[in-house]
Amino acid sequence: MTVHIRRERLAATFTELCEISSPSRKEGAISAHLKKAFAELGADSIYEDDSAARTGSESGNLIVRFAGSQSDREGLFFSCHMDTVEPAMGVKVVRTGDIFTSMGETVLGGDDKTGIAAVLELLAILKENKTPHPKLEVVITTCEEIGLLGAKHLDYRKIESPYGYALDSTGINHVVIGAPAANKIMIEVKGVAAHAGLCPEAGINALALAASSLTGIRLGRLDHESTCNFGVIEGGVATNIVPEKITLKGEVRSHSREKLKSYTEEIFATFQKTIDNWQGGPATGDGRPSVEITIVDDYPPLSLAEDAPVIKRIKDAAENCRKDLRYIVAGGGSDANIFNGVGLPTAIIATGMNKVHTVDEQLDLNDLVGLTELLHALTIA
Ligand SMILES: [Zn+2]
Repeated sequence: MTVHIRRERLAATFTELCEISSPSRKEGAISAHLKKAFAELGADSIYEDDSAARTGSESGNLIVRFAGSQSDREGLFFSCHMDTVEPAMGVKVVRTGDIFTSMGETVLGGDDKTGIAAVLELLAILKENKTPHPKLEVVITTCEEIGLLGAKHLDYRKIESPYGYALDSTGINHVVIGAPAANKIMIEVKGVAAHAGLCPEAGINALALAASSLTGIRLGRLDHESTCNFGVIEGGVATNIVPEKITLKGEVRSHSREKLKSYTEEIFATFQKTIDNWQGGPATGDGRPSVEITIVDDYPPLSLAEDAPVIKRIKDAAENCRKDLRYIVAGGGSDANIFNGVGLPTAIIATGMNKVHTVDEQLDLNDLVGLTELLHALTIA
């Protein structure tokens, strides 16, 4: 049983959404547009939470409810994010056959407007066909691209469905059922500044201490489910000054909470040991180096069991609309990690977007049609 998707309406919806520029924190226009669109589709409630004050966005997250007539059946939610990465101002969509791109100066914004367009088309179809369906909620977050900020400050009490699906993965016909947890790590190594030519003995070189600590740390892939990276270094003033302060920024990711903890502790211990082992000289006197490590729990892991209702439902739906879906484990973090962390099982569905976060971003309309068919099957299954 395959529902008829109105391709050209879907294409027009997608284009319209992409051309409303919405880089993170500047989501005011798209949020207003979506509220109006959901109202026209007959939403029973449209709620904007008060997260804007904490995320710095022009809008809060939107939680929209369509009550449906099947109160005896389990409801579900679809989630998307309304922000995009930059460059995003003045997006113009170019369509060549079934392929959508930007003009080349900006991203297209298919991440994540593919998801939003598919949901709007789904709701339009349910409405015009008067299709009976259970409660359906749509959660549209802000500031996903700058650290999942909308999801981190979302008012979860407003979501009534027991589980849902985040429409936010590149490619098509796969479902993400596992994603790592991550810690952000900021390390500040402090030494003592001194003139490098006149009295280098009096200095404690923070850069050398940071470098020597880093060589004791394993980077890259740590095991089959964990990674570590240091990606930013800041500090130093001039070549003739022994550097006093160096800041390093890195991250650890793991699908295992225990490993995440132990790898993070390992980094902490390595830096501490280097600093503790530092040997001064007569010229440094009481001067000692020090290290300060800040660890931020960035997001929890996503791990869904094969027999979880959220996975069972999509397996049934895929069968009903004859789609062959792959169930995969990914290496990134997204809103779905946060949702799962607060106890809302959420699987991530691929939306057809491609080459995201580049100005070469692309979408094939056929993939967006396929996604909408799958969402329809999920809703009525
Ligand atoms: Zn995204």
